Amino acid sequence: MSATPQGYRGRFAPSPTGPLHFGSLVSALASWLDARAHGGAWLVRVEDIDGPRTVPGAAEDILATLAAFGFHADEPPEWQSRRTGLYRGALDRLIASGHVYPCGCTRKEIADSQLGAHQRNTTLIYPGTCRDGLHGKPARAWRLRVPDAATADEPAGAHANPALIRFDDRWQGPQHQNLATEVGDFVLLRADGQWAYQLAVVVDDAQQRITHVVRGADLLDSTARQVWLQQCLGVPTPAYLHVPVVTNADGEKLSKQTGAQALDASRPLEALMAAARHLGLELHDTAPATLAAFQLDAIDAWKRRLAQLPAA
Ligand code: GLU
Repeated sequence: MSATPQGYRGRFAPSPTGPLHFGSLVSALASWLDARAHGGAWLVRVEDIDGPRTVPGAAEDILATLAAFGFHADEPPEWQSRRTGLYRGALDRLIASGHVYPCGCTRKEIADSQLGAHQRNTTLIYPGTCRDGLHGKPARAWRLRVPDAATADEPAGAHANPALIRFDDRWQGPQHQNLATEVGDFVLLRADGQWAYQLAVVVDDAQQRITHVVRGADLLDSTARQVWLQQCLGVPTPAYLHVPVVTNADGEKLSKQTGAQALDASRPLEALMAAARHLGLELHDTAPATLAAFQLDAIDAWKRRLAQLPAA
């Protein structure tokens, strides 16, 4: 493990796009259990950075639901919307170090530049058009340079491929992603003036001295970008653990868009027991009478569960 248990700092970072649902409860429970199992601190960060997606009142609703489910943060919650000065400072450092550049491309131009881009929902890999200048176009967004892929004439194995980011996920095992071929230079400040999630999350995790990130596996694909950004900013990389996502009957990730139901805050134990089952926790008490009884049992079960993981 990369950090001492005494220094453990974890967090739950909900986006207030709607009320807490079962999928986010699983992430909240896993991050809370991991912090408690390590005797560490557990923080809550409201990720209300994406103005257009933020629903008024949803953050307050989520915080009240967390309290009703027995999750009490060790520090007052942070709000990303109040931290934009930190994101500006980080971007300025990256501009000064030459890691970022302004980009004048529209989404359509990027889509037109690559094969298969007419298909909807394809991840667009930025072709690097503005890496060497804006070509007379106005700046729209700021992008982070990713390392170039190793050249084909390099003897295999002679050098580590700088574009390949590797990390060990505590649940999912060893991971790697080639940022050059699978992602491309990615946006940190969007054309609409919004800070990108990748920048905000890396700056906040570093500034809040988060040692362990526990979240849903839908974010596994973002982690290599975050590791690279940490390297560019010269900040530590936390330990990562991505729990399996909750899907609906159609196999879609549970979210507001896929019609996830709000949790019933008046009956927390039922939902918590279901969340524990989703995480594969073997509880001794199958009908706990109180939240406190559930929590003690679940912390022990989490420790046993971690010991069973292939990555352990
Ligand atoms: N705010 C993100 C979400 O709700 C989670 C970010 C994270 O845990 O890194 O999906």
